[in-house]
Amino acid sequence: MSTYADFHQRSLTDRDGFWGEQAQLVDWKVPPQQICDYSNPPFAKWFVGGITNLCHNAVDRHLATRPDQAALIFVSTETNQEIVYSFRELHAEVQRMAAVLKDLGVQKGDRVLIYMPMIPEAAFAMLACTRIGAIHSVVFGGFASGSLASRIEDAEPKVVVSADAGSRGGKPVPYKPLLDEALRLSKYKPEAVLLVDRGMAAMDLVAGRDHLWGALREKNLNTVVECEWVDATHPSYTLYTSGTTGKPKGVQRDTGGYCVALAASMKHIYAGNAGETYFSTSDIGWVVGHSYIIYGPLIAGMATIMYEGLPTRPDGGIWWSLVEKYKVTVMFSAPTAVRVLKKQDPALLTKYDLSSLRALFLAGEPLDEPTAQWISTGLGKPIIDNYWQTETGWPILSLCNGVEKAVSKFGSPGKAVYGYDVKLLDDQTGEELKGANQKGVVAVEGPLPPGCMQTVWRDDERFVNTYWKSVPGRLVYSTFDWGIRDADGYYFILGRTDDVINVAGHRLGTREIEESISAHPNIAEVAVVGVADQLKGQVAMAFAVLKNASLITDEASALALEAEVFKLVDRDLGAVARPARVRFVTVLPKTRSGKCLRRAIAAVCEGRDPGDLTTMDDPAALQQIKDLISA
Ligand code: AMP
Repeated sequence: MSTYADFHQRSLTDRDGFWGEQAQLVDWKVPPQQICDYSNPPFAKWFVGGITNLCHNAVDRHLATRPDQAALIFVSTETNQEIVYSFRELHAEVQRMAAVLKDLGVQKGDRVLIYMPMIPEAAFAMLACTRIGAIHSVVFGGFASGSLASRIEDAEPKVVVSADAGSRGGKPVPYKPLLDEALRLSKYKPEAVLLVDRGMAAMDLVAGRDHLWGALREKNLNTVVECEWVDATHPSYTLYTSGTTGKPKGVQRDTGGYCVALAASMKHIYAGNAGETYFSTSDIGWVVGHSYIIYGPLIAGMATIMYEGLPTRPDGGIWWSLVEKYKVTVMFSAPTAVRVLKKQDPALLTKYDLSSLRALFLAGEPLDEPTAQWISTGLGKPIIDNYWQTETGWPILSLCNGVEKAVSKFGSPGKAVYGYDVKLLDDQTGEELKGANQKGVVAVEGPLPPGCMQTVWRDDERFVNTYWKSVPGRLVYSTFDWGIRDADGYYFILGRTDDVINVAGHRLGTREIEESISAHPNIAEVAVVGVADQLKGQVAMAFAVLKNASLITDEASALALEAEVFKLVDRDLGAVARPARVRFVTVLPKTRSGKCLRRAIAAVCEGRDPGDLTTMDDPAALQQIKDLISA
């Protein structure tokens, strides 16, 4: 058996040989003629000439060998439902959804926007899209009308699939009014809206536009919809993610490369086997949900648990009870969720039989050492931190225990994953930092491996300029994260190089939040920064300058205005983006050229040294923030 170092090396030096072998993990209607076409950097085309289908690989392919095995296990502690769909049943439901979408006019290449809670129909809709060659664009259910509208405008979906409501902590959260408002705001209007009625919130249906899934499903109980065989490079989905501008980017993913990358990752990284159960606690609105609730486990022939609910309801043992009940072998969650569980009775960690579980994978945000230590000791299982991004679709850094067992180092997401030529670069000179423990920008030399973003939806230029031109003098993919690598090749991630923040594993652009707050009639200017938080990793803090400062006369009026701002952000972006606090100042710290010193503000909020302030225009500005924080 080869060592992991050899395995990784070969993935770079014999790229075609390596990925040609991985491609055999999936079904092809026509096998690829060329493994990687990198004739037009940084655009990589993987498995050129290959013809396949993602839904076939996730569902149909398993009908011959495991038709009655569980495929999708839906558990809702919000509605107290538990439904197990076998591969055969999932196949039937996906075809029904595909038939309905086709009836509503969806064709190959059309977009379908999915704005759904964590219910099985969301999975059916995603799989139905890839089945018929439509491109899905899932928008996280926690986003509100403004965020949704901007995504609808960019994706131009033929159909939007949604539901009457989600639920949180046992209380319904209506979706339809948010969707209606988004459709009103959006200049682009989809032809049809397909709605799942869970009977949780009343819906006003728009005649001619809105359709109910229940009734249309009934009409298609036995409709057969064959898979539409598509080129490996055909887009399977777009997923919007925040960046440094207010406008979210549609990360575009292919079909064949994604399918191979996921199949390979299930073998080499997650080490899950067909017939076993995978449990990812993420949401379908995030990339983890796409790759490791829906496609990855199903492609591997595993059952996947789709969980709607809180990790602490009915109590903090709920997830472990599911591990016991469904004999979960591989589990995937986020550090924030573990920090939430840390506040619960530790006896809950040992109450259930977890003997089936081989490892707990954590990703999405930095995993602090005490949290890693706590959960690892509590469960007595390996904890595997893995680092990646919406853009890559699967891990950049991890341990690959399916190739060679390695020890975790707390605080490190491990080594460069096969296929990724990871480099640390000097952000000023672009020079590669080869020595141990030097801090640089984590970058990946092209081509990006299969499964990574093809481009920004309808904006090749933005793809190149944003991701490939940020390091001086080189065409290299920037992750916009700082990192160091120790002498053993383990990386440590040290935070973002840009204005993106990470709240409870949710990636948020501070500019989007600033834009929303600036819409308040009495706010002249605002800066939003990410500040370290014990539970959520980071929280957003806003500092605003008022147009009419005399409106704030005392603490009560400041709190009232703060509440107005919260409402505005909730309405535009969703509570997920709401800052922890909005503080009012008379001036923001800026350089003499007018650039807001967000990093200095964040440093002051965290009690750190704000660094070099020689270019600062008005030193009193930072002092005001210091005074507010310490008050
Ligand atoms: P997203 O695209 O929402 O998955 O966010 C990606 C960003 O989350 C990365 O660029 C990192 O800043 C952060 N991130 C993800 N996984 C990890 C990890 N394991 N350790 C540290 N940061 C992480």
